[in-house]
Amino acid sequence: MVIIASFVSTTKELNKRETTGKTIGLDVGLNHFLTDSEGNQVENPRHLRKSEKSLKRLQRRFSKTKKGSKNRVKLRQVLARKHLKVSRQRKDFAVKTARCVVQSNDLVAYEDLKVRNMIRNRHLSKSISDAAWTQFRQWVEYFGKVFGVVTVAVPPHGTSQNCSNCGEVVKKSLSTRTHVCPHCGHIQDRDWNAARNILEIGLRTVGHTGTLIASGDIDLCTGGETPLGKSSRFKEET
Ligand SMILES: [Zn+2]
Repeated sequence: MVIIASFVSTTKELNKRETTGKTIGLDVGLNHFLTDSEGNQVENPRHLRKSEKSLKRLQRRFSKTKKGSKNRVKLRQVLARKHLKVSRQRKDFAVKTARCVVQSNDLVAYEDLKVRNMIRNRHLSKSISDAAWTQFRQWVEYFGKVFGVVTVAVPPHGTSQNCSNCGEVVKKSLSTRTHVCPHCGHIQDRDWNAARNILEIGLRTVGHTGTLIASGDIDLCTGGETPLGKSSRFKEET
């Protein structure tokens, strides 16, 4: 129900979008769901994380029950309902976040996640974030078509290592959260730096030479558009 409602309100606004003159790069990660090239961050929604955890617990309990037992039958039903709930929540979050990002920009650049996951995410618990990222990306591309916004997936090579200010390579491990450039002195949150690189590559890819419009308000993304409420919030990071 929730999903249908937000979808309908979206299609109604078809072709209504005016160009914003804004372009944006997105870095998705585990610490935050995404960080954009202006430093805004969207957190992983807590309610979704909670549901995912309890779903996993439930799955473990289910697998321990005896085949053919009453308990197993009962748990199977609970599990099915829970599954449905989590997938609805995840979809709702992806739709909402993708929609607001696409609507506020003329170009959206993001990493090619399939490649990225193979490179960076090898050791990390994959299932949860992968599902969310993949779905998010699909919706970004979908809304891109709907609203006539350019969406571009860039190769992830070097996006976190290069300095977004001077372009030099600054090697850092996954645990290094801040980019500190010894070449030009640029200091920035790691993900923010990556998002700026992603935007830069995206712009190059589509052959834009125009200037970037510097930071503006992204109010579109702060409103609780869905009944699920505070699932995603943009937070200023300074
Ligand atoms: Zn630098």
